[in-house]
Amino acid sequence: MTTVLNGQPTPEQLRRAWAITLKNPWAHLIAHHGKNVENRSWMPYQGVDCLLIHAGKSWDGYPGFPEKNLRTSAIVATAGLPFACEESRYSDTVVCGCGPWAAPNSCHWGLAGVWALPEPVPVTRGWQGLWHPASDVLDRIESQLNPSPGIAQTVHIGG
Ligand SMILES: [Zn+2]
Repeated sequence: MTTVLNGQPTPEQLRRAWAITLKNPWAHLIAHHGKNVENRSWMPYQGVDCLLIHAGKSWDGYPGFPEKNLRTSAIVATAGLPFACEESRYSDTVVCGCGPWAAPNSCHWGLAGVWALPEPVPVTRGWQGLWHPASDVLDRIESQLNPSPGIAQTVHIGG
């Protein structure tokens, strides 16, 4: 049993969340189209359970997906990180059960409880790795939280 985010983080979860910069359309696909695996060459730091999805400036080609009108240089969503998988890290095929978004030769960061920000918060510069935004950025995210608590829930993860 693992506690994961189900929608919005609590203010406490938000304050200790880490941001990750992604090229579009990937940030957009996570925020709005159910992309629930982030493929990385590395595993997340221990204890990271909430991510802030930052759409960077640059565009990563993805056939058939329209580039225009996607938000860039902004934090566009929050996401729970209930698990990460490295079963396919050194394999040319996906050998785990992480689903259609999982890529070979990658670590799979499982995303859950994605909350697309009603108003994305501008952050001009993206960073490598995981990073902490300035407190005024977190303030602007927190101001969009619904006041009612009780958004974390306990669910079964994996087998
Ligand atoms: Zn996997």
